[in-house]
Amino acid sequence: MEIKKVDNLQRVINNINKYANLIDEENINIMEVCGTHTNSIAKYGINSVISNKINLLSGPGCPVCVTNEDYIDKAVYLSSKDITIITFGDLVKVSGNNCSLVVAKSQGRDIRIVYSISEVISIARELYPKEVVFLAVGFETTAPAIATIIRKVHEENIKNLSVLTSIKIMPPILNKILSSKYKKIHGIICPGNVAVIAGGDRFKFVYEKYKIPAVISGFEGKEILASIYFLIRDIYKKAEGKKQIGFKNLYIKWASTKGNKLAQSLIKDVFKIEDVVWRGIGNVENSALIINDKYSTIDAEKRFHLQKHFNKKFYKDEYLIKEQFRNGHKVCNNDYKACRCKDVLLGNIYPFQCSLFRKVCNPEKPVGPCMVSEEGACSVYYKYHREA
Ligand code: SF4
Repeated sequence: MEIKKVDNLQRVINNINKYANLIDEENINIMEVCGTHTNSIAKYGINSVISNKINLLSGPGCPVCVTNEDYIDKAVYLSSKDITIITFGDLVKVSGNNCSLVVAKSQGRDIRIVYSISEVISIARELYPKEVVFLAVGFETTAPAIATIIRKVHEENIKNLSVLTSIKIMPPILNKILSSKYKKIHGIICPGNVAVIAGGDRFKFVYEKYKIPAVISGFEGKEILASIYFLIRDIYKKAEGKKQIGFKNLYIKWASTKGNKLAQSLIKDVFKIEDVVWRGIGNVENSALIINDKYSTIDAEKRFHLQKHFNKKFYKDEYLIKEQFRNGHKVCNNDYKACRCKDVLLGNIYPFQCSLFRKVCNPEKPVGPCMVSEEGACSVYYKYHREA
């Protein structure tokens, strides 16, 4: 069923439930990888209109949630060296190993929140010659805009602006989830926005390699329902030993098979691929976009020798800062260790299954990153009172 033909939502819902009932499994686990899908599912109450055999599980698609603690530590460290830090709002509230940027800001550090990427260069120009570091966090979707900034800094020789990146790509983490024993996943709702850049073919491997049906979906309620319908019908076919379709791009209007060539060439020009640690999950091979040698002078990691500083001495220094913060502020929430963001990001549990959810952890006092970001599953479930 193509999305354009979905004019009778009740019929779609009935068909989803019909197939769910025909499948001889107690739980049918469908993972939505993107935080925007998690948001739409909760906002439209999609989980409440489909069979309770279908578990719609969040995945690792919230960039702030998967940004590792040491990245925050590095940003806090740079702010202690009289460097201006520019970032988007969500990231400032996420704790590193010692503290968050919001705590650093409360200690008088120059940490500025921007709402659009275009503000970054004008702030750097305004503050010249003071060093400015832009915290660039995201997935394939934001990588072209970040690449554009890096090229502009290079071309216009803006000497005081550098970029600390934490940009990840989707396929490696999906490979990690699907090849591990975290939880049996029956179907995947793939992010339409990533496919717009990287191409619809980007997610074909889910079916080709794992024989798990995958669909590229838009973000409206009816689009997500159409995607679930496609998946559940294919899961049923698989259970019956019938021929599956396997993979479908239902976002074809915006995401062509090969994606946006211009965006891809920008990414290729500026970044290279390396391993990176995902917060709570661990190292994921070939999952990071790192600034390549051509633009290395704009890489804050290299400009400020962060690898060198990020050793025992650094931790000692930061430990002292932490003690200083302790006099006036609670640096890290003591409940942090009980946070189950890792399990939320891997689809092992729903946010409301974390013992801290709502009782201790809420958007005003977030314990883990999944409650901080607007795309974080815990924050979405909290906002829309999703508890099933
Ligand atoms: Fe972590 Fe809070 Fe989510 Fe629990 S509810 S997993 S503590 S962010």
